Amino acid sequence: MFEEGTIEGTHIRAFPAIKKKENLPALGQCVYCHRKADDNGKPLKLTSEHVIPEFLGVGLELPAASCAECQKATADFESAIATSMFDPVRKMLLLKGKGGVLEKTNFPLDVGRETTRHEFIPLRHYPTILLMPNFFPAASYSRRSPLSDDLFNILMFNINAEPEYLKQYALEDFSTQAIDLVHFSQMIAKIAHVYGTHRFEAFRPTVADFVRTTYPPGSPVLGHLEHVGCLWQRKLPPTDNLHEIEVGAMHWQGKAMTCIRVQLFAAYGMRSYYVTIGE
Ligand SMILES: [Zn+2]
Repeated sequence: MFEEGTIEGTHIRAFPAIKKKENLPALGQCVYCHRKADDNGKPLKLTSEHVIPEFLGVGLELPAASCAECQKATADFESAIATSMFDPVRKMLLLKGKGGVLEKTNFPLDVGRETTRHEFIPLRHYPTILLMPNFFPAASYSRRSPLSDDLFNILMFNINAEPEYLKQYALEDFSTQAIDLVHFSQMIAKIAHVYGTHRFEAFRPTVADFVRTTYPPGSPVLGHLEHVGCLWQRKLPPTDNLHEIEVGAMHWQGKAMTCIRVQLFAAYGMRSYYVTIGE
């Protein structure tokens, strides 16, 4: 058995498949850099921050919570993840983003005949597979080294990958774009940090700086799995919720850390990520 921490959950927030607009109480300072004013003392313009990115079909917002600089950093990795991992899934499951359901109807598919060869397939024949990384427990609550950067495996849910459709395009084999684990971890850490800030008045944040740092695509970064990981021994019953967030305390080696469980696509059997957001 893999040695890992145990979580004691205190509160679960469930997100149904139908998007619902809802605001948490306004924060009044940047949730990432904690500033209210710029270097000259001028009040910063703070925008509303989505807890779960809006493109995943969720309307829960923390108002007055992000400065322009941090907003740019989070928007960058969110739009990269949206396009590279979730566009066909969003369209297929009719998840409503900012402008409603995605208008695009053709999606690129890497067919691997040449390195840059992509076919554009109409959605109804597109082999839509929900893919999510499955992580080892994070370094902060297991014996894993903070400098390791590998994932355990990839979990998939086949939404629409029909062999007969693939034959029509003479595609025997295909792959989806590789997952950028740094951007993905940033997105999970962001969800946990923003929700945790709303739940807890004061804690020493551990992932805020990681979330607001800009990493170019595919850049080698170590330490992104220090606070983001999966638990292997905690098994949860299946749920009908599209997504879930749980708040709790992670116990590991005599320490208790503030921990948020983020489960995206819970209804499709995807794994929970446990983020230690503070001490
Ligand atoms: Zn900021």
